[in-house]
Amino acid sequence: MNLETVIASIRNVPDFPKPGIIFKDITTAMKDAEVLKFISDSLYEEYKDKGITKVVGVESRGFVLGSILAYKLGAGFVLLRKPGKLPADTYKVDYDLEYGSDSLEIHKDSIAENDVVLLHDDLLATGGSANAALELLKKFSHNPVYVSFLIELTFLDGKKRLGAAKEIHSLIQF
Ligand code: IMP
Repeated sequence: MNLETVIASIRNVPDFPKPGIIFKDITTAMKDAEVLKFISDSLYEEYKDKGITKVVGVESRGFVLGSILAYKLGAGFVLLRKPGKLPADTYKVDYDLEYGSDSLEIHKDSIAENDVVLLHDDLLATGGSANAALELLKKFSHNPVYVSFLIELTFLDGKKRLGAAKEIHSLIQF
């Protein structure tokens, strides 16, 4: 197993969710046991010495590798969810999409000030959602947050919106 095989396992879906977009579909990578293991081990290697105590996953594809990573790192896992899904007191951030807007929420008691936090999502495109997630995480502590993606679409330059991050890592770049 190597990175080329992982890349080949990601399906390109043209015109999803709208005409002109080629969607990177990671479900075809996740369903392959050897690919899933390779990706999980690679991300673990990247973060095993950073002292991470909480992994924060972005709904919903960020939950898959985020929770595997939390387990491997011996860290806790925190869910960043779309509005109205979390049952207890939350902080909320609104952010703009190309058409319209969206929001993310996090439970107010999910992170302690001394936690070392790793934010994980499947894919970095324009950086809008990761930037919103970082804004939310500022509510808890001023410690910079590690940020991890499985895939980065480098031509969209989303990294430049993530100035608040400590280190940004992606396993695969397109
Ligand atoms: P951004 O906010 O523009 O960086 O978009 C990233 C968010 O949209 C992430 O939560 C991704 O899950 C999702 N996303 C955008 N494009 C794709 C794609 O091609 N494949 C999978 N997810 C995508």
